[in-house]
Amino acid sequence: MLENNIWADRPTFVTNLECSIRGKTYEADQLHGLSEAGRPLLVRYDLDAVKAAVSRDDLGGREADFWRYRELLPVRRTKNIVSLGEVMTPLVRLSNMGRDLGAGEIIVKDEGRLPTGSFKARGLALAVSMAKELGISKTAMPTNGNAGAALAAYCSRAGIESFVFCPDDTPEVNVREIAMQGAKVWRVNGLINDCGKIVGDGREPMGWYDISTLKEPYRIEGKKTMGLELAEQLGWDVPDAIFYPTGGGTGLIGMWKAFAELEALGWIGAKRPKMIAVQSTGCAPIVKAFEDGEEHAPVWENAHTIASGIRVPVAVGDFLILRAVRESDGYAIAVTDEAIDAAHREVARRDGFLLCPEGAATFAAYRQSLDDGRISKSDRVVLFNCGSGLKYPMPAADAKLDRTKPIDYGSLN
Ligand SMILES: *Cc1c(COP(=O)(O)O)cnc(C)c1O
Repeated sequence: MLENNIWADRPTFVTNLECSIRGKTYEADQLHGLSEAGRPLLVRYDLDAVKAAVSRDDLGGREADFWRYRELLPVRRTKNIVSLGEVMTPLVRLSNMGRDLGAGEIIVKDEGRLPTGSFKARGLALAVSMAKELGISKTAMPTNGNAGAALAAYCSRAGIESFVFCPDDTPEVNVREIAMQGAKVWRVNGLINDCGKIVGDGREPMGWYDISTLKEPYRIEGKKTMGLELAEQLGWDVPDAIFYPTGGGTGLIGMWKAFAELEALGWIGAKRPKMIAVQSTGCAPIVKAFEDGEEHAPVWENAHTIASGIRVPVAVGDFLILRAVRESDGYAIAVTDEAIDAAHREVARRDGFLLCPEGAATFAAYRQSLDDGRISKSDRVVLFNCGSGLKYPMPAADAKLDRTKPIDYGSLN
């Protein structure tokens, strides 16, 4: 892929970084965390130059992975790209469920196909490639599981040390995959924001780079590829609505940025999908802020949900999520754990599609939106299945058969 390159080393199209709240400019090619205002930095490109250098039809001849969008990504030197095979993820129609509901197109973007089994690979492939490019040798992050797994994998591949802190009830498979892929991992008796504090406080004594969600500028660029890919897969169009399971919101913010960049390039028009932030009723800070008309979302106390990936009590990019939701004429919606569990089972049984719990939350939110009329049956919607369903606990299946006795086949029905 990268060897037969259209990609000889050359300047990227990055012009600068920009504070997402105050607009202050920061130099590219330097190590940055949050802006001085304590908010995420966004990567800016010379889009006129990109437009002159590449057309959307040029993409057709490239590999089917997200590095095909390299003009819109920040890595400068090919040798710094850390890759584990970031395939373009398929769009899978839930046709049986669609028929059951009398609905139009329900499309799942199946992010479980990515390396490490979740869309965290997109963000971390970029963040770790940039960490390599900027000479970082030690990183740390808080995680609910999947981000830590992706960090561990990409860092080990890049020869970078990684330290990971997760809540002590993080799914067992996540903690073990993190350890197996070479990170040092600790289970902490707290939530992800408590783990985040350990990472922040450890910066000085440990000398690590804090690679937490939105606290470095490049994970958004990786997650942005979901929007680029989706538009390309839909023939340079966007759906009517996107249901996104929202924790830190990196993907929602990234896709919103992607659509703006694509429009500036003239690759898509002005139409935007409704961006719908999906949370659980047990942890819904963005939903509350959306309903209260606020620009920021205070910490959600006693956060709990079976969808661990969206158990994020506070998000440093809260205002960016809320802006995208509002500008797109979308909304934020909370679903109960019971609805998530029901959606999880129903989609698996009816369409043979094993969602992850957070992906199931988007289906539950879609169904709730049909009921309350915020989405119409004719809308073409995209649900994000952010990780492989195989990573999560499933209901027991214990039926046993004794092969030493005659088998009553009629009883198997
Ligand atoms: C991280 C994660 C989310 C939330 O993604 P953000 O972009 O951080 O909001 C949802 N589901 C799963 C499975 C995750 O790992």
